[in-house]
Amino acid sequence: MGSKFFLCYHDLSVHNAKQAVSQIRRIADVAKSPITVAVIPDGMQKESELDFFRMELENLLTDGFELLLHGTRHLAIENSDRTFLGKTALSLTGDEAEFAGLDECDSFRLLEQGIALWESLGLKLPQGFVPPAWYGNAFLKNQVLHKFRYYEDRFAVYKRKDANSENPSAQKILSPALSFAGLPKFSLNVAQTSACLALQSPVGTPRLVFHPVDFDAIGESRIFNLTRFALSKREKIFYKDI
Ligand SMILES: [Zn+2]
Repeated sequence: MGSKFFLCYHDLSVHNAKQAVSQIRRIADVAKSPITVAVIPDGMQKESELDFFRMELENLLTDGFELLLHGTRHLAIENSDRTFLGKTALSLTGDEAEFAGLDECDSFRLLEQGIALWESLGLKLPQGFVPPAWYGNAFLKNQVLHKFRYYEDRFAVYKRKDANSENPSAQKILSPALSFAGLPKFSLNVAQTSACLALQSPVGTPRLVFHPVDFDAIGESRIFNLTRFALSKREKIFYKDI
């Protein structure tokens, strides 16, 4: 089996930690292996909730799960200047695409806030960063690759080649994101069929990505079936394996 794929769960946060971790563990049980988890670091919560969140993240790391930093708040709260495309992305995602179309300075500041929030949890910074809804801006990829080994958009994963260069160059890995969140209900069946076709075709290294909302929208048994299907066609890898 030459072809590979990533198996990811997005949007674990302090707000949903209990339910999300149980969903993550159930997917991993079906996969018979730990998976990659994209974590929203926003920690403006009660100390007890933060302790629980931190403990669950530590448990996932101990059990071999791979964590990625997933934005800062996963919600645009500041009234920043954005490009026209950035404004469009915000309205398409219900303001979730917090990095979309930001200028260089605002993008840098928001990324630094996300890193600071993560570090306040007392955990080592993950190796990869995923912008919410995969919307970035003209500056984000380079800003991320200064601090992280991996960046991704909707179509590709980028791996930094040279660790300490001012202008990090990156290897581009073709990787369609197979994701169901934010899609209108009538298109979910088509999206699942497309996901199966992409997993069957030899092209690229797809990311099969589940979100908390998928457990309601497409249901747990479909999520497990897609996971099993992917594993029957391709070998699951972590970002650190590329
Ligand atoms: Zn997300």
